[in-house]
Amino acid sequence: MKRRDEGHAEIRAGVRALCAEFPPEYFREIDAKRAYPEAFVEALTRAGWLAALIPAEYGGSGLGVTEASVIMEEINRAGGNAGACHGQMYNMGTLLRHGSAEQKQRYLPKIARGELRLQSMGVTEPAAGTDTTAIRTTAVRKGDRYLVNGQKVWISRVQHSDLMILLARTAPAGAGKRSAGLSIFLVDLREAVGRGLTVRPIANMVNHETNELFFDNLEIPAENLIGEEGRGFGYILDGLNAERAIIAAECIGDGYWFIDKVTKYAGERVVFGRPIGQNQGVQFPIAEAYIELEAANLMRFEACRLFDAGLPCGTEANMAKHLAAKASWEAANACLQFHGGFGFAADYDVERKFRETRLYQVAPISTNLILAYVGEHVLGLPRSF
Ligand SMILES: Cc1cc2nc3c(=O)[nH]c(=O)nc-3n(C[C@H](O)[C@H](O)[C@H](O)COP(=O)(O)OP(=O)(O)OC[C@H]3O[C@@H](n4cnc5c(N)ncnc54)[C@H](O)[C@@H]3O)c2cc1C
Repeated sequence: MKRRDEGHAEIRAGVRALCAEFPPEYFREIDAKRAYPEAFVEALTRAGWLAALIPAEYGGSGLGVTEASVIMEEINRAGGNAGACHGQMYNMGTLLRHGSAEQKQRYLPKIARGELRLQSMGVTEPAAGTDTTAIRTTAVRKGDRYLVNGQKVWISRVQHSDLMILLARTAPAGAGKRSAGLSIFLVDLREAVGRGLTVRPIANMVNHETNELFFDNLEIPAENLIGEEGRGFGYILDGLNAERAIIAAECIGDGYWFIDKVTKYAGERVVFGRPIGQNQGVQFPIAEAYIELEAANLMRFEACRLFDAGLPCGTEANMAKHLAAKASWEAANACLQFHGGFGFAADYDVERKFRETRLYQVAPISTNLILAYVGEHVLGLPRSF
């Protein structure tokens, strides 16, 4: 597939050059070993890409979510998996928008220099699931500390991060306002693990480092509270919007990878005396996935634009994530299908990318919940839950 001028040429070329040093074979091997792509994340950090959102005064490049999303897109488009390191992009917004000057000064320069990683965000709990306001993990103030007790599940990259954004309940839900009484904290994982925080890895379908967390009287210094106590839900929504826009971009990257891969294969694979791609039954699903991908891409840039302008973007971020995850999944299906048996062979990378992109129909928010959001908040239909 010929690349048209998609903008951000310099960023795209830079990330692509770095990714060329970590070809699909590298990610295939990491996947087989169920390992973490440490060398790749290290190289990305050293090149400054994971400090894209950090303002220049703290040593970063001061770019927006738009550019951050392009960086993540290019990783997936090159055959890699940005899921190993995308947390630093969407968590950064929370610290930048709601952290104090002192917190920014303490952490951002070190993150920019690659001395600290801010890769984890602890929101989901086993009993609450998607209903975030039903979380039960508590943080109770005791003098100059908070004591944290509770449990989280599916918390990613904890074993490869130094810091984690944590959502916990600091007060009972207010009457009629379930989102009240939630707060966010910056947890220093280096101090917490083994001293009130137990981490139990979850083996899963994708090679994605994710964990159960158990908090048993974990002490957090009070100064690690981000923003005001009780306003954490609003802050976390900001981060979730950035997360959705960035993951939409990763799905776009996956989608282009699948379309490239299958187009090439369908043009070369000859069965019944002609390339399989000459058959409309093969061409059309690929063309359809491509059309959907292009449309999703427009919505992704719109969501990023609004986020970077500080404008409300919940609707667009949700719709971008929905369209992109669906389009990449359609592309993945076509790619697997038209590779025939070879689609199942690990050496082709199709089955790995197929598993990786499937995640985004469920996480970080499931398809149904996006539809429910649009039904209620955009169309004004009665709330369904
Ligand atoms: C690999 C992986 C990594 C993750 N990383 C993180 C992380 O770093 N941090 C973090 O906080 N979380 C993380 N998550 C959690 C993820 O955000 C949740 O799995 C997701 O939000 C869905 O929540 P749940 O699994 O509890 O599903 P549930 O809430 O139990 O929902 C199950 C299914 O039921 C349906 N459903 C539920 N409610 C409704 C409704 N009202 N209407 C219609 N359908 C409904 C949906 O189809 C949904 O998929 C991760 C998950 C995975 C799998």
